[in-house]
Amino acid sequence: MELDSLQFWLFFFAAVFILMFRSRKNRPTVAVKPRGVTARVFSLHSPLHHDTPLACLLDDTKRFGPLFQEKEPPVLPHGPSCECVLTESFIDSNQLYSGKAEKEVDPETDLGPLGKLQRRYYRYRLILSKPDCPVDQTEEIQNLILPMDLDPKFQEQVNQHLEGKL
Ligand SMILES: [Zn+2]
Repeated sequence: MELDSLQFWLFFFAAVFILMFRSRKNRPTVAVKPRGVTARVFSLHSPLHHDTPLACLLDDTKRFGPLFQEKEPPVLPHGPSCECVLTESFIDSNQLYSGKAEKEVDPETDLGPLGKLQRRYYRYRLILSKPDCPVDQTEEIQNLILPMDLDPKFQEQVNQHLEGKL
């Protein structure tokens, strides 16, 4: 009886150990490949100009829908000079998690065509240049800009543009 009990516990711990090991091994696969769900998505894009309103800059490149933090897109236009465009599409959650759902954004800016990182940097700088930018947003965006690896020439170009020298 004692031996049976010992064997039982040995098997029990071995089973628990194997299950823990397997679940740890499987976890990344589960995270990368969740069950696919097709959902509606709205993508908002705004041209980036010196005088693009703050509300448009803050919503630019955001996505809305059941798979995103913000479920409903804003009512457009944001204001009198809003040029934002909402595009509607359907997205599979598998594509979303694998990054395959990233669409190329039409990078219309008054600095000409910009790469993805440059465009994001320019958008952050435009937001910071707005006198009505809230303090908490300012700090958040400054922290996002710091680690960006950009050509100093481009940063200088943005500086001059925002100072009205270009
Ligand atoms: Zn807008």
